[in-house]
Amino acid sequence: MFSVIINKNLVAEVKLDISESPVIIAPDPRLNQVSEPIKTIEEGKAIIDKMLGVAKQIQLAGLAAVQIGIHKRALILDISSYVPENQAMHILINPEITYFSEDKWVADEGCLSVPIDRISVERPESIKLTYLDYDGKKVEISASGWFARGIQHEMDHLNGVTLLDHVKSRLKKDMYIRKLKKYKRINNITS
Ligand SMILES: [Zn+2]
Repeated sequence: MFSVIINKNLVAEVKLDISESPVIIAPDPRLNQVSEPIKTIEEGKAIIDKMLGVAKQIQLAGLAAVQIGIHKRALILDISSYVPENQAMHILINPEITYFSEDKWVADEGCLSVPIDRISVERPESIKLTYLDYDGKKVEISASGWFARGIQHEMDHLNGVTLLDHVKSRLKKDMYIRKLKKYKRINNITS
């Protein structure tokens, strides 16, 4: 999800620029495809391993499998740059949100697939969800604040929704699309 401001764990390492990574940049129809549930633990592990490999290459706060062209319901999340006490690399397979709070808040989100501007999005402040962890164990949690925002951002990806779909003004959306096309042209991204 969020293009990280500074992740102190990663600063010392050399990371690829996003344009050199396998992350798909919008606009791209692959990002608007709905992802399928993962059927076996082995399949889930193999996909997560690939995503963790990408997390080693580039600085990220979140990634959905669809962003690297795998249309399966898996996401990883490291929001430590937003919430310093939350240092884990969260691994979520087949996540399902079971509750959204009525309270909402607006904040600017970045996205690896929209590497131009941050876009402000209104989202429920807290959620409850279930998912399978890396070992296929069912987990049930509550999340709020940036953690809940990050999960919702990545879940959007699983449903074929990107930040661009949260831009209400048609003019603004067209402006972002033009900027993204230019970004892809400059960086020789052909897809
Ligand atoms: Zn994103």
